Amino acid sequence: RWAAAVGPRRVLLASPRSFCAGVERAIEIVERALDRFGAPVYVRKQIVHNIHVVRDLERRGAVFVDDLAEVPEGAVTVFSAHGVAPAVREEAGRRGLRVVDATCPLVAKVHAEARRFAARGDLVVLIGHAGHEEVEGVLGEVPGAGALVEDEAGVASLRPERGVAYLTQTTLAADEAGRVAAAIRRRFPDAEGPRGDDICYATTNRQHAVRAVAAEADLMLVVGSANSSNALRLTEVAARCGHDGAPLARLVDGPGDIALDWLRGVRTVGLTAGASTPGAMVNAVVAALGGLGPLEVEERRVTEENVEFTLPKEVRP
Ligand code: SF4
Repeated sequence: RWAAAVGPRRVLLASPRSFCAGVERAIEIVERALDRFGAPVYVRKQIVHNIHVVRDLERRGAVFVDDLAEVPEGAVTVFSAHGVAPAVREEAGRRGLRVVDATCPLVAKVHAEARRFAARGDLVVLIGHAGHEEVEGVLGEVPGAGALVEDEAGVASLRPERGVAYLTQTTLAADEAGRVAAAIRRRFPDAEGPRGDDICYATTNRQHAVRAVAAEADLMLVVGSANSSNALRLTEVAARCGHDGAPLARLVDGPGDIALDWLRGVRTVGLTAGASTPGAMVNAVVAALGGLGPLEVEERRVTEENVEFTLPKEVRP
């Protein structure tokens, strides 16, 4: 009765959405490691920040651990897409672990930049979010020579005793990161940073796409896990596109998180997903919305993606 009362609804799918090349590669690395070496394959931290991906790989024999101390000596161990600090690599070496590194090549690039800036004596300022594994990995490259800033206030509190260089986490909201980078350049005019920023192509494209969709939506649904940085940023970017109180942006892990209340009076639902969210979860949300009444589905594609990364030698065919 309720479904009939709200009438036909439109779903606008943002494109690109869901898996990026770094996430696809990381998942494939775990799958190939399971095939080649057999279960169990240990994975340090969540391979990517999505609960469905993690549960699926667990069913196939992956064992996720927070700390290398939980991994038996000599076991096959995958490092997650978010990268690790050199201290973690050293510990794995000491314990004789057979490491397969699933660090996204675009995160590895930020590590290399951090090392380069630190080697010439600069304070390496990383724009990012405290506690995120990527941030811990990058700052771990430059012990005693790194500082994290999360916002413009963080820039004001820097007290460097040497030159300043800056980098950004790969999954930030481009508008926010740009403001913080501008604050760094105002305060330290000689500060060198990356050309543009280190925000990766996948994050950038998904943010452009969500803006295109949010402009027409009454409600934005972002499919992703609450610990996924790029899904959280997509939700924030969508919320900032709000006009006259719309769109309200909600982060959901799957169709079960959608409250019927959110849909009351909503004609157009914008839908996207973070780079670590399987496309099947988006399909499940569309199916659930379709179960509530007639649905038209349209896609707004802002760009094509054709990035591919090679696999590490340990799991290459
Ligand atoms: Fe790599 Fe970007 Fe995907 Fe992160 S979001 S895994 S940096 S491509």
